[in-house]
Amino acid sequence: MLGALVRDQEESPLPQNDPAIRWERASAQDCSWERPAGVRVEGGLPTEDRQVLDVTSRCPLCGNPGFAAYRFGLLRCTECGLVVDRRVVDPDLDRQLNEDAFGEGYEPETSFWVRWFDSWKNRRYLGNLLRAGVQKGRLLEVGVGSGRFLSAARAAGFETEGCDLSESLARRVTEKTGIPVHCAELAALPARAFDVVCMHHVLEHVSDPVGLLRAGAERLRGGGVLHLAVPNGGAWEAHLPGWNCYAYYHLVYFDRATLGRACQAAGLAVQWMGSHASFSSWFLALARTAVGIRSMERPPAVRLRVGRGPNWGRLAEHPYRMAMVTAGVLTWPVRAVQSRRGRGDELIMIARATSSP
Ligand SMILES: [Zn+2]
Repeated sequence: MLGALVRDQEESPLPQNDPAIRWERASAQDCSWERPAGVRVEGGLPTEDRQVLDVTSRCPLCGNPGFAAYRFGLLRCTECGLVVDRRVVDPDLDRQLNEDAFGEGYEPETSFWVRWFDSWKNRRYLGNLLRAGVQKGRLLEVGVGSGRFLSAARAAGFETEGCDLSESLARRVTEKTGIPVHCAELAALPARAFDVVCMHHVLEHVSDPVGLLRAGAERLRGGGVLHLAVPNGGAWEAHLPGWNCYAYYHLVYFDRATLGRACQAAGLAVQWMGSHASFSSWFLALARTAVGIRSMERPPAVRLRVGRGPNWGRLAEHPYRMAMVTAGVLTWPVRAVQSRRGRGDELIMIARATSSP
């Protein structure tokens, strides 16, 4: 099935007119900002700092050193087609960005609407596991976010644990749910210990996605599955600069072909891959494009609180969310087609480890 999906993939060709950017050849003036060695970026990263930080890096998927300019300031590997943010070259910064976005200052949104949306999404994810023939056992979620998925999985009968690099987030989810969350690298957890490993919107945050997938594969028991969701770089909305999956803390953007290739490189056999077109994606992409929001550009010196959205008056949220839901209903035919063609805004995949670690 994956083969059919990948063959069906018709990504826009690499831009022929743009000179390929070979990082190792970039001149000094290409680097408008250089982070002094040993200095951690605290509290904010001005937009202009999103320039090339290193000129020696290679594609994290295929190792190729050549990149071509892609849309909205992103780069695309000329060999495998993986789309990356230039900052993918700096693992320390990757970790710092994630700590800034999802660490101490991160407060998951708690409004009725967001909890409602989350419960639908979690039901959908758990339904995928059920269809893959997994309904119980030891489940590990990598990157725990609000902790709502872990709670839903526990309620569905799984024995749940989490793993997160943010100490404050791990502590908060454990305090709130009673579910153990390891504050550790995934690779530090016991091998062959889990029936399910979930990575929901995590892989796009890391500079070594194949390494993380491999660590996930190695944590699986025989017959165990990896359930993964990432933004779909091949989504139709991804042509709009306001697509809400473009974010300063996203370092790589997968489509079906590059995700399939990453799994293969990590020793995973894809059992099923599909796309989901979320009801809010068109509404957000069009509205944000109309008002000129480019979420890859992080406001300087502002600790952005991911997940909190605008500072709502309590009443203002309701018409906004109702408009979002209405747009979701009206765009249903489009969403059904794009979802079926693998062009929805979210890629979802179930895979099994191909070899014993
Ligand atoms: Zn590549």
